Amino acid sequence: MSISLSVLGSGSAGNCSLLILHRPDGARHILIDAGLSPQLTATRLGPLGVSLQQIGAILLTHVDYDHFHPGWIAAAESLKTTWHIHRRHLDRAVQAGLPIRSAEPFDDAPKLGAATIIDPVLLPHDQLGTTGFVIDHGGARLGYATDLGRVPATFFQRFINLSALAIESNYDRRMQMNSDRPAALKRRIMGGLGHLSNEQALDAVLRLAEHSDLRHIALLHLSRHCNDPRIVQRLYARRAPHLLDRLTISNQHQPTLLLHISRARGRPTSAAQPQRQWSFQEVLPQ
Ligand SMILES: [Zn+2]
Repeated sequence: MSISLSVLGSGSAGNCSLLILHRPDGARHILIDAGLSPQLTATRLGPLGVSLQQIGAILLTHVDYDHFHPGWIAAAESLKTTWHIHRRHLDRAVQAGLPIRSAEPFDDAPKLGAATIIDPVLLPHDQLGTTGFVIDHGGARLGYATDLGRVPATFFQRFINLSALAIESNYDRRMQMNSDRPAALKRRIMGGLGHLSNEQALDAVLRLAEHSDLRHIALLHLSRHCNDPRIVQRLYARRAPHLLDRLTISNQHQPTLLLHISRARGRPTSAAQPQRQWSFQEVLPQ
């Protein structure tokens, strides 16, 4: 039992990742977010030997346009894909055009088969928040968090014992400050309900790595205008050289390699369901 992950594309022009959940009797294919058009998603799945028809489920982190492309409205009618979405985002998804009968809203844990436990973690982002996921597939554990304005304490309580982490690393603070973006936009991005800077993301990675044997770290959602992968590389070389060899920096234009995520040594084959230790109020604005 293991997980393969490829970030098919990530950035403000669209986010989508493929997960392959390997099982003794075959594999299950799911997407996290659907921010690329169905056509582009199919094009990027092709070299991995995966077709759109094989996608059995889509997990949405939230329903901003870069995570739910309107092209999926028609595709959702014809594809037999279940859309898993936190109940908090359901109205927004239906307003955006997702057919209600395709949606399977969840409160606690989306159901993806007995071998897979998904722990959804609400994180601060705009008014409705975003959903991070800890995906435990037979003890192989992937944490996935994008579009979070800051890293709340609950993140470290729930993102534990991971074999791999995908986390956004949106902007370089200096580039953001020096950009010609309107002040209100800068405040939205940097004010705790927008996105994580490279430094904030690395702080989270380093703290999380104390309790996880991270084999892969995939960085998501780099800003086209206010970030540069070379800056990120230099940051890790300076502050976390021991993590450089497991770093994958995703981009908008091409998929990452398929990352193989297996159970960390010494871990049980399946994690117990985590305790609820959080509330919306804790992570979202009042
Ligand atoms: Zn986004």
